[in-house]
Amino acid sequence: MRSEEEDESSLVVLVLDVNPSQKAIYADSKGYRHILECIIAFCNAHLVLKPDNHLALIACHSGSSEFIFSDKESEVQPTGQNDGQYELLAHVERSVRINLRNFILKTEPTVGDSLLAGSCSMALCYIHRMIREKPPSLKMNARILVITGSGESVSQYMNYMNVFFTAHKENVFIDVLSMEHDLGLLQQGCDITGGLYLKIPQLQGLLQYLLWVFLPEPPLRKKLVLPPPVKVDYRAACFCHRTLIDIGYVCSVCLSVFCKFSPICTTCHALFKTPGPLHNKAKKKKHKVS
Ligand SMILES: [Zn+2]
Ligand SMILES: [Zn+2]
Repeated sequence: MRSEEEDESSLVVLVLDVNPSQKAIYADSKGYRHILECIIAFCNAHLVLKPDNHLALIACHSGSSEFIFSDKESEVQPTGQNDGQYELLAHVERSVRINLRNFILKTEPTVGDSLLAGSCSMALCYIHRMIREKPPSLKMNARILVITGSGESVSQYMNYMNVFFTAHKENVFIDVLSMEHDLGLLQQGCDITGGLYLKIPQLQGLLQYLLWVFLPEPPLRKKLVLPPPVKVDYRAACFCHRTLIDIGYVCSVCLSVFCKFSPICTTCHALFKTPGPLHNKAKKKKHKVS
């Protein structure tokens, strides 16, 4: 008997960070090739799992984000000789290799954070379209898998939050595989959307982590023993300096967060009274006690 979960098709949008500042990928010449092989193997494994499964891949760095592959847009072209390999898989492999190389070669290396939030927004738009265009009888679950070796990009705090809450509303899971750093903001995204966050201890095992942890679709995950959830760092970034803070001032009108008191909210221009008298009262009280 087939359960309901087995009849559901699954859509994965991979977001791959190819920023040249990542040590995990570019520290030696084998790094990039190893990661590419692992990702192609993961893509193929996902597509052969069920005939209705769908896949897209977006690459990003500090300058732009671009669709590298989507099975909606590209037609499988017969190539003749594949040594018996299934044509769809050969097509995925060829497209990913060529398009990713073109994407990396045509861009000039710039210093800056990768545009992961922007890529996730593109992924959400794509997922929204796929779900709208699917036959009504077909059930589909969708998820975004972010693979990155970059550090925290707090400057995109608001963009991240918009992506996380939109994904949560659209029932899209956000999974994150970090190759090097602890990523507090993306951990929050995984926690909000119910996805998985994993910082892999060693890069050699990338394919194993992808296949064991991220290949099973979200409805099946509750039946598996997966790495325990991490303790999420829920600090917010202040809007003035984009640093993560424990305690700060919140604008009562627009809920912007600031690390220092300012009489005018820089987001909504609301005016506040200076908190001077409050300090005096506290001081007087202190004197009385002592
Ligand atoms: Zn600040
Ligand atoms: Zn405000």
